[in-house]
Amino acid sequence: MRKVLQVRFSEIYLKGLNRPYFLRMLVERVRDAVKHVQGHVWLSDSRIYVSDATDVDEALRRITRVFGVHSVCRAIELEKTDFQAVRDMAVQMMQNETGSFKVEARRSDKRFPMDSPAINADIGGYVLERVPALTVDVHRPQHLLSVEIRDKAYLYTKPIPGVGGMPVGTNGRATVLLSGGIDSPVAAWMVAKRGVSMSAVHFQSPPYTSERARDKVVKLAQLLSESLCGIRLHLVPFTDIQMQIHEKCHPDYTTLIMRRYMMRIAARIAHAERAQALVTGESIGQVASQTMHALQCTDAVADMPVFRPLIGFDKQEIITLAEKIGTFETSSLPYEDCCTVFTPKHPATKPKMEIILEGEAKLDSDALVEAALAGREILEL
Ligand code: ATP
Ligand code: MG
Repeated sequence: MRKVLQVRFSEIYLKGLNRPYFLRMLVERVRDAVKHVQGHVWLSDSRIYVSDATDVDEALRRITRVFGVHSVCRAIELEKTDFQAVRDMAVQMMQNETGSFKVEARRSDKRFPMDSPAINADIGGYVLERVPALTVDVHRPQHLLSVEIRDKAYLYTKPIPGVGGMPVGTNGRATVLLSGGIDSPVAAWMVAKRGVSMSAVHFQSPPYTSERARDKVVKLAQLLSESLCGIRLHLVPFTDIQMQIHEKCHPDYTTLIMRRYMMRIAARIAHAERAQALVTGESIGQVASQTMHALQCTDAVADMPVFRPLIGFDKQEIITLAEKIGTFETSSLPYEDCCTVFTPKHPATKPKMEIILEGEAKLDSDALVEAALAGREILEL
């Protein structure tokens, strides 16, 4: 007998011929997740197993955050040839419970002499006789005892849900525009959840933005790093571009034009990293620069798809997700962002492209973009 964690995967079962690849990647991700607690990880018969972690609770917590994991449970592994030991373990696992229960057997080893209904009846009857506080309810049981007959027999009661999604690294790469706000970390998390590796670009405008604002973004990237399996953060100096826009462009258009420069620079970085898309935390109508008209103007400068996974979310829905993924508290620290420096009094909500282009024509765009790229700092988190 030994205690193991049994991990089930989510959508990978849809993957047909690519399934072995997705599974291998997920095993690697689980292995990374439990490295700190020295867990031993292996794949057997469509399940991933973890044993010998020095801190099982920590291993569980980390595994539930791995993209691609449907659920994890603490299971007892027994030799299936000793069926009496399986019965006795079932009693031991249920003996402190009261109320209704049901045994749910699954037999992937079709050579095993009992089929699933027979196992249900055998173990259900055996437990019922020995634990008087339990009754059987096959429709809506309060307790579910799962018995899986695979290479070995596995028993467990309470699977813990994982985050779902696909293993990071199985679906290309994207570059997120990471502000210090609530939205963009959530947007990054949502895209990574689909198996996408992420890098991040942050624009800072010293001395208008402080060291503390910078530290906040680094902290956010660090918080995301565990789920995202590491993240490269580009810190790009943006003060010169902002000053020029402020001096030379229409005052109602400064935020929008600034946003277009962010897109241009982020796209340059994304191409260099062989990313296929940009990601932002925008949502329709949240602020003036996120009206449909404004989004059309920002999109126009990006020569790759721009994904906005929060596009239809209300702020409260985004906050709820930020709390779930653990970034809300840090995002709420009150430090200034470069967007809050030089904000227009009356930002254009239905911007006109001629006015944007007229403003941008007054700037030495290429030189500004090159200087910003050259001045960036890169952190591996
Ligand atoms: P967030 O909460 O993520 O800051 P927001 O609601 O404050 O979003 P804006 O400030 O208008 O919205 O920014 C919209 C999007 O533009 C952000 O979600 C982010 O993707 C990007 N962005 C804004 N500021 C920066 C910055 N300083 N560096 C990198 N990206 C930024
Ligand atoms: Mg912001």
